[in-house]
This record gives sequence, C-alpha cells and structure tokens, in this order.
Amino acid sequence: MGQETIGHMPAISHLNEDQLIQVKITLDSPLRWVNSYILQDEQGITLIDPGPRTMSSEQEWAQALAALQLNVEDITSVVLTHHHPDHYGIAGWFQEQSGAKVWMSERAHQEAQLMWGEKPHDAGMNKQLPAFFAAHGMPEFWLSQIPEHLDSFIQQVSPQPKVTYINEETHISMGGRLWVPVQTAGHAPGHISFYHPDSGVILCGDAVLPQISPNISLVPDSDAEPLHLFLEGLRRLQELNVRTAYPGHRHPFTHFRERIEALLLHHEERLTNIAGMLSAAGCLTGFEVCVALFGDKLGIHQMRFAMCEALAHLAELVRQNRAELSETEAGMFCFKPA
Ligand SMILES: [Zn+2]
Ligand SMILES: [Zn+2]
Repeated sequence: MGQETIGHMPAISHLNEDQLIQVKITLDSPLRWVNSYILQDEQGITLIDPGPRTMSSEQEWAQALAALQLNVEDITSVVLTHHHPDHYGIAGWFQEQSGAKVWMSERAHQEAQLMWGEKPHDAGMNKQLPAFFAAHGMPEFWLSQIPEHLDSFIQQVSPQPKVTYINEETHISMGGRLWVPVQTAGHAPGHISFYHPDSGVILCGDAVLPQISPNISLVPDSDAEPLHLFLEGLRRLQELNVRTAYPGHRHPFTHFRERIEALLLHHEERLTNIAGMLSAAGCLTGFEVCVALFGDKLGIHQMRFAMCEALAHLAELVRQNRAELSETEAGMFCFKPA
C-alpha cells in the first residue's frame, strides 16, 4: 500500500490511494508506535493524533516535517480521536508553534481534564484511582505505585491545548474532503472516528485495532458501563461501508467488519469466562478476577489497564444481571453470580 520511505526515524508512508501520509511516532509502551496521519489541502495541513510529547516525538516530528518539506506554521488543524496521551499529548505543543486549532469531542476533553486537569497535587485521580482499586481488592504493593505512575504522564500532555469541539452533527473538512465524525466510547469516552463515505475510508483511532483488543477501562467518575458502550459503538461502526481502516496503532487494514465481529466475540467469551469463575468461586474481588485473567507479573502501567479492564467486564456482567456486587468480610467489594 503506497511507497514507504524510511528515514532514520520516523517511518513515513505515502498512502497515495487515500491521499494520506502516515507518520509512525515511537512509543515506549508495548504498542511501539502511534500512527499519525497528515492530510493537506489549500487551507493548510491537518495532523491527526500527533502522539505523546516526549523528547523523541519532538525530534521525530522535526525530521518528518523536514523530510516532507512541510512547515510547522502551515499546520492549521490538529484533530484528536481521543484523550489518551499517546494521541493527544503533543497537540498543545503544536498549537503553541503554529496557532493551529485543536479539535476533539467535548466528552473527550472532559476526560482529559479528569485525568490531567488543574488539581492540587495528590488530589483528583491520584487519590481516586488507588481508593477505587483498594475497594476492589488491589494490594498496597500496587496501590502505592499509582500516583507516581499517573504523574509520569503530565509531561507527555503538556502544554495542554485550547480545544474546539467536534460533534457528530458537524462534518469536518480535512484534506479537501468532508469527514463524518462517529462518536463511540468504551476504550475512551468521546472517542471520534472519521469516516469518508464516498471512498469507504475510516480513520478509526483506537476504536477498532487490528490484532490488539483495545483496552476497556472502568475508571472512577467516568462512564459507569464502558464495555456496554464499547460494544454498542462497535455495532454502529460495523454498519459503515468501510474499504480501508487507518487505525491508531499497527497497520492499515481492510477487514474492518470481520475485525469488529472478532472483537464482539472476544468480549462475549471473556464475559462467559468471568461468569464461570464467579460461579466456581462464589465471590471474587475485582483484583482476583484481574489476576486470574492477566496474571500479576505486570508493570504498573499494564496492571492499571488490566484492573480497569477486569472491572469493566464485571460491571457489564452486573448490568446484564449475570453478577451482583457484594462485600467481603474484610469490607471490600466482591462479585457474586446473580
Ligand atoms: Zn487509546
Ligand atoms: Zn492509542
């Protein structure tokens, strides 16, 4: 698909068929890179999901723009699928240099503020998340690592951008084409995919990924039924007539509907698996379910996602009346078969 010109770093692919340029910005997580996309027209340059703000991402963007003979001042829009640092992080840095508008959904922006809004240190999510995990049985060994872990993202999202909101009612012009925003949730509240019906192209962020099952997170003060919302969103996306999907991670792919079918099945199987665990044990905390699913040989980053994913599935079993929330003798929450 297109010709690939790999410089030192980053890899740049000219996806000529769909008038997109893909720039792979390096991540140090197991995801390895985030796909940013460049669209151009006479109005200027649009960047989609430019990545986290790190030393290496700043250098990679400088190299990429130079290799493409683009000027940072010509960036008129930075468009974000969702608030995660690996997509949103460097948007504010680009805005400072170019004056570009930064677009995301209002719901996604709320979530960015929930995670990294102006709060006194040691308040907000740094307190809320360990308390939430403690109530669901996570031991102190992990809890004590969370505040520092969350703080480590602050520099990846600074400076934070001034945001203009996108919603499903307003089509957005990028690269001389009008794109239909499709808002879903589950992986991230207010996640927007951009669909171009005439060509069957979708820029789908992390809503649908090839090979990887997007993490579904139950987080305090956020959506209470994230897996339910995720599955609903997948069913909506499955109705679109997609020829090629350009995801936030891994490679562009054409089997969009089949991939969605596989993700729906994966979550159904995991729900059935957890329901079976609850029946066998009688009562399990969220942490016990998390360790049964993912083990405990994880770094804090992976453990946070594993715990949030286990709790998202447990919340869905409760919603479906297949489990109920109860309490252990130690005063923690646990889940019983309904
Ligand atoms: Zn994400
Ligand atoms: Zn991502």
